[in-house]
Amino acid sequence: MTPPDPPPWKPGPWRSLLLPGLVLLAMPWVAWWAWRTERRTLRQGRPLFSSEWSAAERVGVRHPEKVRVLALEAIPVPGFPWMHRLAARVGFDRRHIGGLCLRYAILLRRDLAAQPLIMAHELVHTAQFERHGSLSGFLRTYLLQCLRSGYANAPLEREAVAKSQPVPRPPEPQSWPPRRPQVR
Ligand SMILES: [Zn+2]
Repeated sequence: MTPPDPPPWKPGPWRSLLLPGLVLLAMPWVAWWAWRTERRTLRQGRPLFSSEWSAAERVGVRHPEKVRVLALEAIPVPGFPWMHRLAARVGFDRRHIGGLCLRYAILLRRDLAAQPLIMAHELVHTAQFERHGSLSGFLRTYLLQCLRSGYANAPLEREAVAKSQPVPRPPEPQSWPPRRPQVR
């Protein structure tokens, strides 16, 4: 997921014990929701453009041909409004979500859908889903990491941020002698 600026993370017994328990209990239902949302997106979404296909290969997606992309007004999240309020308190405010990856389904908020950085970020999550082998396997690991370390420090999220950065361009050839900055 891609919220622009996650709030600071303050771990405590509530987040380290009770919430992971709730996540594990809710897992079958979350996985069912994710599977249904992925299936719907695969039916309605568009395939990757060629530049997105290259980005997918660059970040390690094994099957870019399976990916479908759908732009929406708001990203759907599972659960009831009270769950969304609870999630907002632990750093998952749905209003901040710019994109969501459910294996081969990539959902993007319409106003952010043209940003290649967000697409690359979600494609890293697709590659992570492929590595984990199943929807529920990845989601369980991802959500528990977010609870343990905070969204911004979860290892799977850090990998997505790091790998989605644009490839650095080679440095411009320097002119010689180097120009001194002018001080007035
Ligand atoms: Zn993410």
